[in-house]
Formats: sequence, structure tokens, C-alpha cells
Amino acid sequence: MHVQNLIVGCGFSGATLAHKIATELHEEVLIIDAKPHIAGHCYDDWQDGICVHRYGTHIFHTNLKHVWDFVGRFTQWYPYMHTVKAQIDGQEVPIPFNLNTIHQLFPSTMATLLTEKLISRFGFNVKVPILQLRAAEDKDLAFLADYIYEKVFLNYTLKQWGMKPEELDPVVTGRVPVYVSRDNRYFQDTYQGIPLNGYTAIVEKMLDHPLIKVQLNTSYQDVKNNISCDRLCYTGPIDEFFDYTLGALPYRSLAFDFVRFNRPYFQSGAVINYPNNYNWTRIGEYKYFLNTPSETTIVSYEYPQPFVQGQNDRYYPIVKAENTALYAQYAECATQLKNTFFLGRLGDYQYYDMDKAVARALDVFERIKNETSND
Ligand code: UDP
Repeated sequence: MHVQNLIVGCGFSGATLAHKIATELHEEVLIIDAKPHIAGHCYDDWQDGICVHRYGTHIFHTNLKHVWDFVGRFTQWYPYMHTVKAQIDGQEVPIPFNLNTIHQLFPSTMATLLTEKLISRFGFNVKVPILQLRAAEDKDLAFLADYIYEKVFLNYTLKQWGMKPEELDPVVTGRVPVYVSRDNRYFQDTYQGIPLNGYTAIVEKMLDHPLIKVQLNTSYQDVKNNISCDRLCYTGPIDEFFDYTLGALPYRSLAFDFVRFNRPYFQSGAVINYPNNYNWTRIGEYKYFLNTPSETTIVSYEYPQPFVQGQNDRYYPIVKAENTALYAQYAECATQLKNTFFLGRLGDYQYYDMDKAVARALDVFERIKNETSND
């Protein structure tokens, strides 16, 4: 069998590219996915009228206007600003750790002192990664840094990654910096929202085109010898593509326990983190995202796991120098291939959020378009 474009993976990356190739280049696309559904790890479905994200809570947030506008062509947005709380010392406190968190956890004179020191050292409305705050020399700031490190980051990161914060690239814990502000939101991006009909419906619309054929339950490994193509766009794991010739890229996986409760609410917000207690990291309660009224509620307990090939899914690339170096070698091999494009969390071995995956797919499309027009 021969196709013009073979796209491997039906997540946001693959679907964005499929849509652009079909609608702008007017070429046929076969998009395959090993899973029985589209939308990759953004897949959601409805239970008791509640939109449940089957691979954990997903909040769309971006500063990239072109990405927001592009995705907005396939959905209406429910205006939602994400907040997270963590159970620390018997209280539910705002995360990222900010000035409100300080005032909730410490006696008022101490909170005022710490707040003043933070503002005079870093300025107001400034984000300070915990590993940077730990370098502070002032003894009060050093006390605060140790407190936040111990209570928020250390045990959560040990559960999430099986490593201490300093064993990972600082960008990982830097995603949730200490915020010298009174802003309790998890993200400060200009554009934030939840798609009114869910993420799967977005991908369905992206793929709804006469030139796009979707084939599920189909892994690339099983069909690669039977399908030839003019162009291959691969969002699967880049190490698997090259038969692990340079070694396997490490990943972290997750397991979810979804529970339905016969009561209107289970917890006080969409996501509660448990850095120091239990062996789950966080519990998500889905009705908060679209503010769905219902007599029941659905939550997910999130349990990080080592990724084991053939047993569970890849969720997170493990961002640290040696893994990035191994990826760079695979990326070098990729440059030798003609008409083959790698993208997505697994294809690029990058800790992309949804918006960055879409942005990358749009960039790859521009490259493809330029190459096509230069032929
Ligand atoms: N993190 C933490 N405690 C928290 C929240 C986050 O230690 O309460 C650290 C942890 O290492 C985590 C990283 O910050 O993996 C990034 O968190 P984020 O919420 O961005 O993870 P994601 O939502 O992508 O799983």
C-alpha cells in the first residue's frame, strides 16, 4: 500500500499536521495510532455528564496567540483559570507557593518578615525557581527555601520521578516556581481555557476531512513494512523508530485510579497535590473544569510509575543532561532521513505542554510547505 503522507500518532501533534497537510497542501493523509481512540493522551470522554480526561487533568494555557487562535477554530472555550492546592502541615494551601501561601502557613509577624525579604531580594511579581531560592544567603530566606523544598518539592518529586529535584534539569521544578505575588493561579498565560466539548472533539474536528483517513489499533512497527509513503511524520518514540540502536530513552509513566462518588463534590478544587502523604501525587476532580452541575462526581488518583516497555505508556521524558545528550544523537540520525519529520513529546523527547506540541506541529508544517514549494 502507498500513501502520500503517513502520520504516526493521532494526538494533538499528529492531528494538527494532518489537518494542515489536507487543507492547505490538498494531499491525502493516513494517520495511524496504536490506541483504540484518537487524541492521544488528551483523550477524554463523558461520564455522568462530566468530561473526564482519561490520562489525567489537562488545562489548555498559552501565550502563543497563533496557537490559541488555531485550536479555537475547532472549539469554543470555557473560560477557566486553573488553581491548585497542596496539603501541607494539615492545611490546603495555594501552589505555586506564593505570598498567600506564606501568610497561610506562618504566624503573621514571621510571614510579614519573609514577604518583605522576598520582595526586597527578588522584587514583586517575580517567579523564583526553588533551586535558585535555595542559593539565597540571607538566613530567613534560607529557612524559607528549605521549608518549601522539604514540604512542597522533595517528596512530590521523589514520588513523581523517583529522583530528587537537583537530579533533574532545573526546568522541571522550575515549571512550578515560587511566585513573589498574591496570584494563586497555576499559570499566568494570557490565554487559558477548557474546550466546551472536550479535547477529543477538537481532534475529531481536525481530522474531519475527506483527504484524511484514520486507522486506530495500528502500531507503526506492525505496518511499517507494508505501507510506503512520500512523507512520514512520526510522533512516536524516536528511540523505537531507530530500533533502540543507541539505547532506550528513559521515560516516566503514570497509573490512574478513577473513582465515582455519589455526592456533588469530593474536594475543594480541581487539583489537590499531596507532596508528603500517601503514594499518589495528586487527585483531580473533573467537574470543576467545565463547572458541571451533577449529583455525582468523578476523581482520579494519580500514581507515578517507572516506564516499562510493553507494560505501560510513556508519559514524561525524564529531562536531565545525559538523556538530552542521548536524544541529540537520535536527532542527528533523524537529520539523515529524507522526507521524514519527528515531532511531539515522544518524537522530540521534549516535555511539551499541549500548546507547545501544537506550535511545534505548525512549525513543522511550515517547513514541509516550504520544501514542497521549492520542489
Ligand atoms: N512539583 C512539586 N510539588 C508540587 C508540584 C510540582 O514538587 O506540588 C514539581 C515536580 O517535580 C513536578 C514538577 O514540579 O514533576 C512539575 O510540575 P507540573 O505540575 O508542571 O507537572 P505536570 O502537570 O506536567 O505533570
